[in-house]
Amino acid sequence: MPSKAGRNRSDYKKSNRGQVLRLIATGECKNRTELTEAMGLTKMAISRIVSEMIEAGLVAEQELSVQNDSRRAPIGLAISPKAPKAVGLLIQREYCEAVLCDLELHIRKRETVFYGKQIDKEQLIRDMFRVLDTILYGEDNVIAIGAASIGPVSSSTGMILKPFYFFGIEDIPVVSLLKERYHLPVFLEHDNQCAAICEHLYGNGRKYQDVLFLGVGSGIGSGIISNGKQYRNNRGLPPEIGHVSIDINGKQCSCGGRGCVELYVRTPEVLKKLQYHTGKLYNFKTYCGMEKEPVVEQILNDMVTQLASAVVSTVNILNSELILLGGDAVDWDDRYVTLMERIINERRFVEWSTPVKVKKAYFQKDSMILGAACNAYLQIFEGGLLFEG
Ligand SMILES: [Zn+2]
Repeated sequence: MPSKAGRNRSDYKKSNRGQVLRLIATGECKNRTELTEAMGLTKMAISRIVSEMIEAGLVAEQELSVQNDSRRAPIGLAISPKAPKAVGLLIQREYCEAVLCDLELHIRKRETVFYGKQIDKEQLIRDMFRVLDTILYGEDNVIAIGAASIGPVSSSTGMILKPFYFFGIEDIPVVSLLKERYHLPVFLEHDNQCAAICEHLYGNGRKYQDVLFLGVGSGIGSGIISNGKQYRNNRGLPPEIGHVSIDINGKQCSCGGRGCVELYVRTPEVLKKLQYHTGKLYNFKTYCGMEKEPVVEQILNDMVTQLASAVVSTVNILNSELILLGGDAVDWDDRYVTLMERIINERRFVEWSTPVKVKKAYFQKDSMILGAACNAYLQIFEGGLLFEG
């Protein structure tokens, strides 16, 4: 059980309000009684906070429902339709996408632009503005923009640094560009870190405090929740599991290392192998369903075993209790999820009574873009933005 979130001290007023809003927004608490229990505050304190939030148009009471024995059920609480929304922007190697979503993480609008064959920095910036202009058109109740990008990024300087396989585009000052154009608070984080936050707040990571999110796609990325908090270092640099070596004599990687796991298991590599050995031009998802083809089975087994090897190394450092699979890994057949779980538990160093769990991300391929918006919500839940001033 996580520790009680609330603290009965006036210094923590904002933080308590942020926590209460989080518990309501994520559906963890549905009424004042549950909030009182989860926060460890008095009934009266919770009543006061909730009344303030109703007044401010953040929270709304739900209609009374009658229980079977005709006792009145406690009045339900939910996020008010009048509450501010956040925009999530996702920058990927092939496309950029923006969504408008509410505090309960329902997507209200979505806009995507695929870049085409070759783009430069100016074109990328134009495409980012294009999706955001469309999403923000006519919206006057947006609290912030959260951006998620392929790495490496520096969340503290608000820059995308030098991503591999990205048309040679580098050093994009995303935060300052967006602040200047939209006059909203802007937060930038690595895409897989965003996904980890999203799953931890709203998805399959909710009951866990130590989570490793794996993003499988054109690269292999990771997001880390440690002791209930997003892993963060001083320079805002994300963890890069893709460059954990699984073979010191292996292929040369552009990072300078050899045998980086990404070189073997990133989707374009695996797909190339599958197409070569089967002579068929299917997409990755279709291959994942071809369980009876021994050659497909062998290639996918190798992929999972290689990825598991890098995951074990990481689990030995972080002692994660849950591994969440995102990106193209959500298309894996369940037996590959089980295989990865078995390998990790056979090889991890620390023996613990509960085995490490491996699950697919609740929000599937949307955990990164929803996580972009969660960048903004995380600020609110920590007592910022809405509760400042
Ligand atoms: Zn590398």
